[in-house]
Amino acid sequence: TNTITVDTLTRWLTGFADRVTEQREYLTELDSAIGDADHGANMARGMAAVVDKIGQDPAATADALLKTTGMTLVSSVGGASGPLYGTFFLRMGASAGAVPELDAAALGAALRAGYEGILQRGKAEPGDKTMIDAMLPALDAYDAAAASGSLADALAAASAAAAEGRDATEPLVARKGRASYLGERSAGHIDPGSASTALLFDALAAAA
Ligand code: ADP
Ligand code: MG
Ligand code: MG
Repeated sequence: TNTITVDTLTRWLTGFADRVTEQREYLTELDSAIGDADHGANMARGMAAVVDKIGQDPAATADALLKTTGMTLVSSVGGASGPLYGTFFLRMGASAGAVPELDAAALGAALRAGYEGILQRGKAEPGDKTMIDAMLPALDAYDAAAASGSLADALAAASAAAAEGRDATEPLVARKGRASYLGERSAGHIDPGSASTALLFDALAAAA
């Protein structure tokens, strides 16, 4: 299939919730090395609230689903990741619009709009050791693969690139967020937000 329906987007969100719940200890361990040890709890709590909310009130359009997701994350997660992932989903929804499904180009544009929202809100640049270091390579790989292949191929390429981006944060020195308080001592650890972003793209590839 070459489109992503609201059902697929819903499976993506529940799959992301499952993954951050399963990997909660791992995300927390990463955040305990260079942050305040709450990234697993933040993401698991936020995505559990999202699953609750979208289960109560199923959406018919991509923008409604993604807007509810973003607003729920902003209001249920206290840490930096809540407003950042929240902005991602809000901007993604605004780009997608009131439609029941997205083709590969519309999905790529919506993901890119979400990413740009994170940049605007967090002011990080590539290489600052944040979630965007997993997200940008994923989007670039998606666009390159979508130009010549199927949607499934593009999502598989995005997921693999996000995981590589996550691993590539290890040697970096953090320049944004709590980890930046450590300066040079932040090097040698994977960024927790890049690890949750790799789960986000893994869940999307699995849902499609
Ligand atoms: P907090 O740091 O407030 O405890 P979390 O632990 O939930 O919040 O999330 C931390 C993650 O958020 C970091 O690992 C990083 O990937 C991401 N992050 C922090 N600040 C920024 C920023 N300005 N731009 C992009 N991502 C950021
Ligand atoms: Mg934290
Ligand atoms: Mg915190």
